[in-house]
Amino acid sequence: MPCAYRPVLDKIRQAFPQPVSDRVHDSYFVHSIMRALDEVDALKSELPLLGQTSETDYEAARVASLEEKGVSLEEVTSRLVSYLRGMTIFGHPRTQQNVIQQPSIPSLIGGLLASLYNPNIAWDEYSRRVALAEVEVSAMTARLVGYDPGRAAGLFTFGGTGTTLYGVKMGLEKACPGTMTEGVRESAVLFASDAAHYCKYNVAGWLGLGTRNVVLVPTTPSNEMDLRELGRLARAALAEGRRIAAFVVTLGTTDAFGLDDLAGVVALRDTLVEEFRLPYRPHVHADAVIGWAWAVFNDYDIEANTLGFQRRTVRALAGACRRVRHLHLADSLGVDFHKTGFAPYVSSLILVRAQDDFHLLNRSPEQMPYLYHFGDYRPGMFTLETSRGGNGVLSALANLRLFGKEGLRVTLGHMVEMAQLLREHLEGHAATTVLNRDNFGTVTVFRVYPPGVDTFSVKHRELEDVGWRDSLLRHNEYNRRVYDYIHREAMAGRGVALSLTDCYRRTSYGEPVVGLKSFILSPFVDAEHVEDLVRQVLAAQVQIANS
Ligand SMILES: *Cc1c(COP(=O)(O)O)cnc(C)c1O
Repeated sequence: MPCAYRPVLDKIRQAFPQPVSDRVHDSYFVHSIMRALDEVDALKSELPLLGQTSETDYEAARVASLEEKGVSLEEVTSRLVSYLRGMTIFGHPRTQQNVIQQPSIPSLIGGLLASLYNPNIAWDEYSRRVALAEVEVSAMTARLVGYDPGRAAGLFTFGGTGTTLYGVKMGLEKACPGTMTEGVRESAVLFASDAAHYCKYNVAGWLGLGTRNVVLVPTTPSNEMDLRELGRLARAALAEGRRIAAFVVTLGTTDAFGLDDLAGVVALRDTLVEEFRLPYRPHVHADAVIGWAWAVFNDYDIEANTLGFQRRTVRALAGACRRVRHLHLADSLGVDFHKTGFAPYVSSLILVRAQDDFHLLNRSPEQMPYLYHFGDYRPGMFTLETSRGGNGVLSALANLRLFGKEGLRVTLGHMVEMAQLLREHLEGHAATTVLNRDNFGTVTVFRVYPPGVDTFSVKHRELEDVGWRDSLLRHNEYNRRVYDYIHREAMAGRGVALSLTDCYRRTSYGEPVVGLKSFILSPFVDAEHVEDLVRQVLAAQVQIANS
C-alpha cells in the first residue's frame, strides 16, 4: 500500500525553515514574509489605523472549530493579516493614545531570530549565547541606572506586572522567611501610592498576601507618594505587629508620569529598621517600567546641552532626572523595553541590586529532576516561569545597540520637546489647562472648559472645594464630549487620536477628575501634529457650543 500521508507531509515540510541550507527555499521563506508585509502595507492610509475598524462578531468566533484540511502558507498569511484590520498604528504621529510603541526594525529582527531558533533562556544548554545576551542586557541596564554591574543581576519576565511580582516576592521572603515552603502565615502588607499601577493588586492577590493588604498611600498634587503619610501608615502597620513585604515606589506613573521620592522612601525604610529593631530590611521595589529610560540623561550635561534641546525641554529632563537618578537605591526595579524602549511585547526586565536576592526564590534541585544538571547559567532554578523565550532579550539588546545612549537621548528628548510644545499651546489658551504640570514626561493630561470659564482658578477649586462639585461633574461630562468629538474626527482621518482618563486623580472630596490624555511616544511626531491637536480641541469647543 502506497504511503498515503506522504504528500501531505511533503507540503508541511515546505512550510518550515529548512534545517540544511537551501537557497531556493530560503528565498521562498523571505518572500513569504514580504508577501505578508505587502498585504499589511495595502491597509495603510492617512488614518492612524490599518484599514477600517469593523464590527467584531464574538459569537461567530466562539463557535470556531478546527478544519479537516489545512490551507496553503499563502492563504494562512492572508487570513492572519486580516486580523490586523482596524488596528491602531501606534507609531503614527497622529496616535497619542497610550504608552504603546511602534517597535524598531532591529528589535523586530531580534524577535524574529529568537522565534526562528527558539532559544529557551531557562538554561544555557537550551539557549547558548542568547543566555549571554540576557546577562549583557542586564549589565547594560544595571549600569545605566547606577547599579554596580558586578553585584546586580537581571532576568526577563512576563511584563511589568511580572517585574513587580518578583520584587514583592523577594521582599515577602525577606520579611517572612520560609513563605515559599510554608505559605504566608504572618500578616504582611505592601505599600504603594494611589497612583501606582493596579498590578499592585494582582501581585498581592496572586502572592497570597491578599489585596486587602495593599496599603494605598495618598499622592500629592504632583502625583507622587506623600512621604509623611507613608511614614505614618508604615509606623501604624509595624506597631500592630505586621510585616512589610515591600514598598513599591513608582517612577513614572502610567497616567501622569508622577515620580515618587525613592531616596526619601529608602531613608524612611532605614529609619524604621532602627526604630522598630526589625530583624529584616523591608524591600524597596521601584516600578520604573516607564521612567527607566530617562536614566540616559543622568549624565547629560544640562548646561552645555550639546544636543540643542529647547530650554524648557532641558528643564523637563532635569525635573525627571532629579528622581530617576536615585534608581540605584532600590533593592530591585522593573524595566519595560516595550513601554519606553521601542521593543515589541513582551520585553520586561527585573533587575536586583544584589544578585543574592534572586536566590531567595530557589527551588530545590530534587523538584526539577530532568533539568539543570550542568551548564553555567541556570536561572530556571528560581524563575517563576519554566520556559522563557529569547524574544524580549534580543529585541531589547537590538535597541540598546541601535540607539546607544545618544539615540535614546535624542528620541526621548524630542518626544519631551513635543510634549512641552503641546503644554505651551494648551497653557496659552483660555479654555484649556494642563493637569499634570509638575510631571515632566511625554504624557500630558489636560482639561478643556466651555467658553467663559476662568481656567486659572477653576482647576484648583474643583480639586479642593466641595462647593464646586457640580462644576467638576459638569466639566467631567464636557470633557467626555470633547473626547468624543476628537475621537470621531481622528477616525475620519482628521487630527490626532487621544485618550480619555476617567480618573486622573480624585478631588479632596472623593470625585474622579476626567482628563484628556496625550501620550507622545512616536519618533515621527512633529510640531505640526501638536498644532493640529490644539486646533482640534478648539474646534471641539465650537462644535459643542453650537450643538
Ligand atoms: C504598564 C505598567 C505596568 C504593567 O506593565 P505590563 O508590562 O503591562 O505588565 C506596571 N507599572 C506601570 C507604572 C505601568 O505603566
